Amino acid sequence: MQSENTAKKMEFQAEAKQLLRLMIHSLYSHKEVFLRELISNASDALDKLRFDALTNRALGICDSGLAVRIKADKEAKTITISDNGIGMSRREVIENIGTIARSGSKAFLEKMTGDQKLDSNLIGQFGVGFYSVFMVANRVQVITRRAGSDEGAVMWESDGESSYTLTDAVKDGHGTEVIIYLKEDEGEFAQDWQVRSLVKKYSDFIAFPIYMPDKEGKEEVVNQTKPLWRRAVSEVTAEQYDEFYAQALGGFGKPLSTLHTNAEGVLEYSSLIFIPAEPAFDLFSLERKHGVKLYVKRVFIMDNCKELLPEYLRFVRGIIDSEDLPLNVSREMLQKNAVMERMSKALVSKILGKLKELAENDPKAYGGFWKNFGVVIKEGLHTDYENREKLLELLRFQSSMGDSADDLVSLKQYVDRMREDQKDIYYITGESRDVAQKSPHLEVFRAKSIEVLYLVDPIDEWVIGDMLSYGDKQLRSVTKGDLDLGELGKEEADRQKAAQTEVQGLSERIKEVLADMVEDVRATGRLKDSPACLVAGEHAMGAHLEKIMKAMGQNVPKSKKILEINADHAIIKNMNVRYEKDSADPELEQWALLLYEGALIAEGQMVPDPLGYSRRVNDVLAKISAS
Ligand code: ADP
Ligand code: MG
Repeated sequence: MQSENTAKKMEFQAEAKQLLRLMIHSLYSHKEVFLRELISNASDALDKLRFDALTNRALGICDSGLAVRIKADKEAKTITISDNGIGMSRREVIENIGTIARSGSKAFLEKMTGDQKLDSNLIGQFGVGFYSVFMVANRVQVITRRAGSDEGAVMWESDGESSYTLTDAVKDGHGTEVIIYLKEDEGEFAQDWQVRSLVKKYSDFIAFPIYMPDKEGKEEVVNQTKPLWRRAVSEVTAEQYDEFYAQALGGFGKPLSTLHTNAEGVLEYSSLIFIPAEPAFDLFSLERKHGVKLYVKRVFIMDNCKELLPEYLRFVRGIIDSEDLPLNVSREMLQKNAVMERMSKALVSKILGKLKELAENDPKAYGGFWKNFGVVIKEGLHTDYENREKLLELLRFQSSMGDSADDLVSLKQYVDRMREDQKDIYYITGESRDVAQKSPHLEVFRAKSIEVLYLVDPIDEWVIGDMLSYGDKQLRSVTKGDLDLGELGKEEADRQKAAQTEVQGLSERIKEVLADMVEDVRATGRLKDSPACLVAGEHAMGAHLEKIMKAMGQNVPKSKKILEINADHAIIKNMNVRYEKDSADPELEQWALLLYEGALIAEGQMVPDPLGYSRRVNDVLAKISAS
């Protein structure tokens, strides 16, 4: 049996090997990021220790004097980074450094863009940071001892090729020491000034002191130890915010907006919140994370703090650091905690306010935001009744007045440019802009220059149920119920009345034919160019929602629609002539069916009997060519 004392050789897991090969041989010119990654690991380890010390005093862990220490030796070409943090047991070393989370590495490889600056930010985000050290090192030793455990220290050593060794080691106190043996041509990284400038550049916001020896060999602190979020807003530069967003919070690219507050009132807390420009890869995944970290009195408490922000703001990233919560707070305690509720309320209101400001001051940037996160914001209409008014202001829609899918309108803009006698806000739902804008239902609106919103997100059908009004305006579907355009539609309404008498008999005849399919047949005031369209009851499900539900295998209650016919259209006129001549004319049956089927197709539905439909079309065409 092999003794634990002798060196034990282990193979890297296959995924890890693949990643290492990539790191070493092909990836980056931004090799310097290795230092940032190791410092960030040290800082995480210090955070964890402090948290354990707080929550588990029985361990007898001492959490004073927590720090990172860096020594660089330019002759020996080594850099040593040590921390007195949580450390690792032998098993943890194998799990954390010999293996990588499969999902993380895969997502990393998929996300790589080829842009070195961007990709080097990805290293940290996907939990593959430690390996970046092999970009500059040909040998690395990690000597570590777990805090609060009887186990002795262990040394991990590897050249980053395919295997590593584990040996028992001697180490005073808990924590981790990483010794980097630089490659021959990477020796410059071991220069003192170089390390200092990299610390300034990448790790200045680290909340623990980072010590380096000065010229006399005495230790001096080389970073600003005040956490970034605790500094005055005027003390932090835009670059520092951006760096923090990417490095400490795993943000993607540059944030769209930054919200930094130091609140001192009823509640005392600091918050640093970022609104991302780009969505995280897990925005819609079931295991998605919230992006907010909770600190209490500068002590890290937890990642992914769902209690702070509602689900529909999960894309926001940041930190909140409270003075009022007790240090030993637990998840359970947070759920009904008055302080949390207050902070959460204040944060939500701040974030929504910021979005409103952005929407007003920079509509183009907001349009980009809306494309990425609009669907998520809409979820809020369902869940956050309190902020309904604010959320309504944030909504953007495509519309019949827009030139393209990027030309968006707010409800307020819609109302501001409504026609003088217009009472309601009109919308149409559909699976795409293209389908929506070709709908026959829009004909009268186009003729009257009345704007119609296009609700073309699958979620819209649900959302609309939650926002049936905006201010004193009702939202009305153009495909449902009686169309009442008031003063604006007076001419159409009069014509409809007259037409109803003209086609009364024909309507009844068509209704007989379509008895199983439609509720009623009547003259329309909506159409200009099309012969017929289908109208749903005021409270019925829209055609689009019906289609979605069916696609999801849901049982859709059979609701018959009303067929509205256009008495001024050539087809209807012809039918009427035939009807007056012979009300039993069998041709009328075929035509009635075709009218109905055409209306179904126009709203993007399937005809129930495709074969019969095509036969009918062929019959009609054959007659035309014969005459
Ligand atoms: P990440 O930090 O995103 O988890 P890394 O590749 O940087 O990914 O680190 C892998 C893991 O190794 C860490 O999650 C941690 O468990 C462990 N680790 C790395 N450095 C240290 C350290 N200095 N102290 C304790 N654990 C560490
Ligand atoms: Mg890391």
